[in-house]
Parts: sequence; C-alpha cells; structure tokens
Amino acid sequence: MTLLHKRHHFTTPAPLRAACQSAVLACVLFAGAAMAQKPHQGALDAATQQKEEALKLLEQMVNIDSGSANTEGLDKVREIVVAELRKLDARIETFPAEPHPGTNVVATITGQGKKKILILAHIDTVFKDGTAAAKPFYIKDGRAYGPGVMDNKGGVVAGLQALKILQKIGFKDYGQITFLIDTNEEVGSMGTSALIERIAKQHDVALNLEPGRPADGLVVERKGSATALIEVKGLASHAGVAPEAGRNAAMEVAHQVLQLAKTGDAAKKTTVNFTVLNANGPTNVIPATASAKADVRAATPEELDRVEKDLVRISQNKLIPETEVRVRLVRGLPPMPRSPASDKLVAMAEGIYAEIGKKLTIESSGGAADASLVAGVGVPVLDGFGIVGGGIHTPDEYAEVESVVPRLYLLSRMLMDLSAN
Ligand SMILES: [Zn+2]
Repeated sequence: MTLLHKRHHFTTPAPLRAACQSAVLACVLFAGAAMAQKPHQGALDAATQQKEEALKLLEQMVNIDSGSANTEGLDKVREIVVAELRKLDARIETFPAEPHPGTNVVATITGQGKKKILILAHIDTVFKDGTAAAKPFYIKDGRAYGPGVMDNKGGVVAGLQALKILQKIGFKDYGQITFLIDTNEEVGSMGTSALIERIAKQHDVALNLEPGRPADGLVVERKGSATALIEVKGLASHAGVAPEAGRNAAMEVAHQVLQLAKTGDAAKKTTVNFTVLNANGPTNVIPATASAKADVRAATPEELDRVEKDLVRISQNKLIPETEVRVRLVRGLPPMPRSPASDKLVAMAEGIYAEIGKKLTIESSGGAADASLVAGVGVPVLDGFGIVGGGIHTPDEYAEVESVVPRLYLLSRMLMDLSAN
C-alpha cells in the first residue's frame, strides 16, 4: 500500500492523486473492518429465522401478568418456559421460591465439552395484576410494549432462543449450559438467592439476561447494597415542665444523620442516603427513642467494610452525651465489581458484536441484580444479555424489535466462544 501510494505520488496529476488517496483511505478502512472476524453464518441465519418466533413467545409471556406475588401468573409463564426448555431436551428441576410464591426452575442441557456455563433470567415483573389486560403487548414504531417486555421477559426469550440456535446449528461443545429462571428477582430474590449461589458455584462462568441497556449496553459492574440502621435511646421527660431532665433521642438521631451521611465517597461512587427517620410521640414529650435508616451502595466489598467501620467510629461523636447510640450495617446484595475476568468477557462480547458490525456500550449500574449474587460467590459474570429496551419499571417499558436478531446472535455466540475458552 505504501509503495503504491509513493509511485502515484511521483507520477500522477493532482485530480487522480486525490482519487488514489481516497482509494488508499478506503484500503485503510477496509483493513480496519477486516480486523473484525466474519460472522458465524449459521448462527446469524438461525438468529434471523428465530426473530418471529421470539416475538410471538414474548407476546405470549407479556400478556400474562406475573408480578412477584402472583402465583397463578408466575405458574402460567413458568409452564410456557418449561415447555420450550423440554423442546431443547433440557433436564428440568423445580424449587419452591419460599418465602415467596412461585417455583424457580433450573434447566440443564448437557453437551460434549467441558465448560459449565450458567445463564439467568427472571419471570416476575413489577407490574400489578390487571396490567396485561389493560395494556397488552403491541408493537409501534419498532418498539414492543407491555408489562415486563424487556425486564425480563425479553431476557427469558433471548435465553430460550439462543439455546434453540445452538440446537439448530448442532453446536454441543459446552459441557453443560444451565438456565436458571427466578420468580422473585423484583423483590430482592429472597426465595432464590441461596439457590443462585449454590448453582453458580458449580459453574465456570455466568451470563445474566437482564435487559440490554437503551444504548445497546451490557452491565459489567453493579454496586452492592446495604442498609445502615441507627437506634438512639434517650430519656423521656415533659417538654414543657422539665425538658432539661430528658435526653432527646430525636435531636441525637438528627445529629447522627447529618454526620454519618458524610461517610459516602463520591470519588469511589459510594453513597449513603438517609431515607427513613422515626421519632414518635406527643409533642409535649422529649422522645426517649428515635431511629434512622440509610440506603448504602458501594462498588466494592472493601468500600462496604470501610463504611461499616466509619459509621461505628463517627457515631461515637454525640450531640447529647448521655444518649445511647447503636449503629449497624445490614448487608443486602454483594457488589459485582469490574475484574480481569469480567473484562475478558467484555472483550469477547465486543469481538462477537463486531462480527455483525455492531458496537456495545459497557456500563455500570447502581442497582443490584441476580448477577451480584453470582459475583458474590466469585464466579465471573457479565450482565445485560437480554433484548435491548428502555423505560424499565414504567408503564412505557419497551423492547427494541430491531435488537432481537443482534442480541440472539450475541448470546448464542457467547455460549459458543465460552465453550471453547
Ligand atoms: Zn430485571
């Protein structure tokens, strides 16, 4: 290319030289594009063929209300999913989601390789009973609407269809692919967390099928959550007759809230937000008890440990010395930090998406999800492999119809590459 360019440079007149230079530019662009691998034609064809079936299945599931407390709806959606999984020769196990209603599903497909890959999605939604009847599935201007269309029925459909693609092209190089279907993710996965942790530990890697972010994103990092609890004990007394005899727990808790809110760290994206305050009683009594709660989020386990220590240490500084102050940090879902293992998964996903000329955004989220539980037991995990959409948890929640084929391709190809690497 360089030689050719030089030769023209010496011999060609200006207009032709310009043409040649743009040809050189085209060459460079072509070379850049050629760096991306060619698409796996079999997988791409199968993904394209599965589009209509995927949308039909999505419609069927969206039109059944399955809020986290709707046992009947959750059972109906589960039956549809299980029927699809049986077509894939999956071994089906069910686990009651106690203390929640509904039954979790663990489906296992055995291949001829070694790698054990876990995929996860949830069939419960945040929408109340009657939503599906009031606003059933419809498509307008390239977007599919309906309760849970992207969160997370689009993820369930992506998982089922990706497995169908592998079946269609006869790909069996994985050791085992397990599909775990959760029925209570939207209320914190209390009835599934132990199952997720136990199953995750039996796998080499996991992909969570929460929705693809609006800008075609995957989620590589999720904050962990915790609740800070402050309890103050003071001394009651008549607010008019003998206020000095009392020890005002409300005043002390107010002081603690103001100083402990500073344990957040903007640089590390650690947040401590007090959201609940309590001090009840008649206005003429100095309150003897008061309490407060804060929502705490951190990107790493170390930051949660740091906040816990700081809360206890700083709370020793009291406004009213004779009050008793107790501070605790109650852990929720663990952080899903970015790691070399998750970066490897990101690179794999980006390479696969480039095969079909598309680009992913790689994002962080302040919200926890089932992927956080997987990360908590040390298994590499990447999230956001569902259908792309937006308006999550709102009446306008939508899924991008044009994202169906690329996302089915991405997920099925991830399962293929993870089987090999
Ligand atoms: Zn979700």
